[in-house]
Amino acid sequence: MLFAHDTECSLIAAAALVNTAGRDGELLPDVAALDAFFVRHAYSGRHEHTDDELRAVRELRPRLRRIWYAEPPEIVALVNGLLLEHRALPQLIEHDDEPYHLHAVPRDAPLATRIAVEAAMAMADLVRTGELRRLRICEYPDCDNVVVDLSRNRSRRFCEAGCGNRAAVTAYRARRAAGRS
Ligand SMILES: [Zn+2]
Ligand SMILES: [Zn+2]
Repeated sequence: MLFAHDTECSLIAAAALVNTAGRDGELLPDVAALDAFFVRHAYSGRHEHTDDELRAVRELRPRLRRIWYAEPPEIVALVNGLLLEHRALPQLIEHDDEPYHLHAVPRDAPLATRIAVEAAMAMADLVRTGELRRLRICEYPDCDNVVVDLSRNRSRRFCEAGCGNRAAVTAYRARRAAGRS
């Protein structure tokens, strides 16, 4: 593990959230889609199943996406801004089957607030460890999905939306075409 477990989970969830408004269009079209996202990323705590909650989570996406495009001084400003805005106060907590990890807002804070603060805390770890280069944009042509590279050798180039497979197929076809000519 490169980072603490909660940091890695938060980074993966933040990227997945940003990519729900990515190459495949709107992937959070309704409350049911948000419910599925909530389960997939093992969130717990307050979950309202309302359109207001859905809207707040969707509105977070462009703010988080900016972190992927920003340079370090702006990233720091964005992260500090999110932590300040939500009055983050880190506390170690143990719940469900999770070992001790940090929560910086109460579990009954709105879902969008908790996602924002978790993401900011995780980004703070990347800043502190000098690992911001792990935030990348998918290298597949015309894909602007975001990528969190948690591989040991920093080798991850493509997003989770199948671009790795697409790139492999393209490369295979190019090799075959080259072999025929
Ligand atoms: Zn927790
Ligand atoms: Zn991609």
